[in-house]
Amino acid sequence: QPVVIGPKEHGIDPKLISPNAVRVTQTLQEAGFKAFLVGGAVRDLLLGVKPKDFDVATNATPEQVKRLFRRAFIIGRRFQIVHVMFGQELIEVTTFRGPSVESAPKDEFGRVLRDNTFGEQHEDAVRRDFTINAMYYDPATQSVLDYHEGMADIRSKTLRMIGVPEARYREDPVRMLRVVRFAAKLDFTIDPATSEPMAVMAPLINNVPAARLYDEMLKLLMSGQALACLKQLRKEGLHHGLLPLLDVVLEQPLGRKFVTLALNNTDNRIRQGKPVSPGFLFAALLWHQVLEKWHAYQAAGEYPIPALHQAADDVLESQAEKLALQRKTTSDMRELWAMQPRFERRTGKSPYKLLEHPRLRAGYDFMLLRCESGELDPSLGQWWTDFMESDGPGRETLLAQKS
Ligand code: ATP
Ligand code: MG
Repeated sequence: QPVVIGPKEHGIDPKLISPNAVRVTQTLQEAGFKAFLVGGAVRDLLLGVKPKDFDVATNATPEQVKRLFRRAFIIGRRFQIVHVMFGQELIEVTTFRGPSVESAPKDEFGRVLRDNTFGEQHEDAVRRDFTINAMYYDPATQSVLDYHEGMADIRSKTLRMIGVPEARYREDPVRMLRVVRFAAKLDFTIDPATSEPMAVMAPLINNVPAARLYDEMLKLLMSGQALACLKQLRKEGLHHGLLPLLDVVLEQPLGRKFVTLALNNTDNRIRQGKPVSPGFLFAALLWHQVLEKWHAYQAAGEYPIPALHQAADDVLESQAEKLALQRKTTSDMRELWAMQPRFERRTGKSPYKLLEHPRLRAGYDFMLLRCESGELDPSLGQWWTDFMESDGPGRETLLAQKS
């Protein structure tokens, strides 16, 4: 039986709730179903943070949900869910899940592959990951249903896995990455029993399909706390094999400085609400691997430009098995890397041609990070800053200095 927490005690501000999410729970309830806000949205509301999106849990089946809304689509991934659209806003509606049955298909390491049985609300709660992610909010009565003492963990800022952590990681190793992400993002302490098995279970992450790993890594890197997440990953011994060779990069002073600067930059942009492209992020994370191979190909007698392209190919190929980078992302990464030598050519028409490059700004930001990290002479960055800010005659003067 859940603990029912009233509005005076939980203090949720109804103004932080999307009217469309309330419309969904109301419509479902009027049709005779149970419906609640659930998961991250309730957690954020209890922390006084405006949720970025809203999930609804209900005892209506996906078919029943779909019939109640004009723009609703059943999406069948690992679990079937319904996307209810209101203009640009998407509300995800999930039917209560039942306990995983013994016969659910698993891989050889115990990872659950498919499991789509419906269940009661208390069974749904027990299948969620953390106590703070397993609370339900009913906008009609303004009450919170708490099945696993999540409210106490919100108050003490504790991240605690529901159930036996080791078993939960075996079922779904991605949960280990979620531990790291939420601990860093919310600034919560990880309950010792939750973190204890992680070091031993870490290798199970290798069996997660590359597309799912990419989604989760991206959430981690775009959390606004990427640097804190990366430190936590290292602390938990989870970074091995995630971004192959990233551990090597982080062990070299130059590489570590570069990655740190890049992630700091990303975190600041995200906190200021500015856009960040996955291409820039992954290009930065992998740059020192590219650099190393680039030098090696040149030492073996290859010309600089083809050597850079070969290095880029090698690095992207070695990543592909682990992390399913999207085609757009890898082409952005290649472009950023390929632009880099062009910043070092400061004679004739070359700099003017580079000015016309549609992705000049990203390439320039990347080059500045290389200067800041000590890889390039800072005067190069300054020269480009001046060149980009100058008018025609000013640019000629700058070029003359270099010819
Ligand atoms: P965010 O703010 O990043 O969206 P969130 O908690 O909403 O955080 P989601 O990935 O959107 O995270 O998942 C929604 C809810 O689904 C979670 O709060 C949790 O209850 C449940 N959940 C998600 N992933 C898992 C998982 N791997 N194992 C168990 N429960 C999960
Ligand atoms: Mg969410």
